[in-house]
Amino acid sequence: MNDVFTDLIGQDHVVAQLRAAAADGPAARAGLPSSAMTHAWLITGPPGSGRSTAALALAAALVCPQHGCGHCPECVAVKHSAHPDVEHVVPESVTYTVAETRDLVHRSAMSPSKAPWHVFVLEDADRLNAESANTLLKSIEEPTPGTVWILCAPSTEDVLPTIRSRCRHLMLATPSTVEVADALVGVFGVEPAMASFAARAAQGHIGRARALATSEDARLRRQDVLRIPTQLHDLGSCLALAADLVATVTDDTSAICDPLDEREMAQLRAAYGEGAEGRGIGTVERRAKGAVKALEDRQKKRRRRVARDQLDRAIVDLVAFYRDVLVLQLGAGSTLVNDEMRPQLERVAAESMPEDTLRRVDALERTRNLLEANVASLLAFESLTVALRDPSLA
Ligand SMILES: [Zn+2]
Repeated sequence: MNDVFTDLIGQDHVVAQLRAAAADGPAARAGLPSSAMTHAWLITGPPGSGRSTAALALAAALVCPQHGCGHCPECVAVKHSAHPDVEHVVPESVTYTVAETRDLVHRSAMSPSKAPWHVFVLEDADRLNAESANTLLKSIEEPTPGTVWILCAPSTEDVLPTIRSRCRHLMLATPSTVEVADALVGVFGVEPAMASFAARAAQGHIGRARALATSEDARLRRQDVLRIPTQLHDLGSCLALAADLVATVTDDTSAICDPLDEREMAQLRAAYGEGAEGRGIGTVERRAKGAVKALEDRQKKRRRRVARDQLDRAIVDLVAFYRDVLVLQLGAGSTLVNDEMRPQLERVAAESMPEDTLRRVDALERTRNLLEANVASLLAFESLTVALRDPSLA
């Protein structure tokens, strides 16, 4: 039977601790000593290992009467970010602002509305700077009874020591290709051949593996990206490939964000439209205006983030392509991530030197940094394709 922990592939050790914490939840909430449950957690792991999945699974298990059954109204609400006592916080800018964290601290002082716990899942806790971390510190150290903080970050080194030392740490591992493939077959019913391709291509990133295994669109997008290295004929084709990639990402982002934006706005307007008659209407309209503005800001940030994630994914796929090229050039004999593209990889390997390949990987890393620094994506990718074509210029 699937429960909230089923999606945590290859993380048995962590899952055991999360289950124990959830099982001990009621006792801890009643004030009894518990070794398994605590009020501040730090979950670390490489991208795609399932940090937020683990954090949300623990959140669901704490508010579910059956400790995370996966299908009761509580579990379903957490899954859809709609549980009143589970706050899933995703910072939309480069750092958590002090205002943002102060607001969190303020809300964390409130008792849960219906569940035994009021749970705060903070993604990207590495984006807490000294100031915002300081704002949060006291609440993490001595939270209101019933409040639980679950912080997620790539590694403990990315989190300020003051925060780190106040949390119980759980470390997720990168699941092996075999574990991912087995899970795709066993949990998601994917055909074995497709599962093994998707697991290899996703390099330990479960969500990505699942998307590749189940979506033709995702596979085609990936193919388009991996075709770039063999189509960099001249400056014109470099610029065209960059433009195509960015245009595709913009379209995909709209496909993801437009329906969400519309639904949220309709809900907000409905909430403010109700009962807005007579004498109070001026006040209601003013408040509605403020709320609409705030929602639009959040939506704009989300759109940027979704686009960034897709551009990042393209970079990860291209890095894997050139790593495969390097494996062939050095005759290292390791498994190729893109084994199905062997002829193209061999061609690029034969036409260039290992130094060129390393320069190309550097150019990809540089592009990642440019995106992080909010450089316009078209500009960043144009300079990337140019550098990939002629690495001596990079
Ligand atoms: Zn449940």
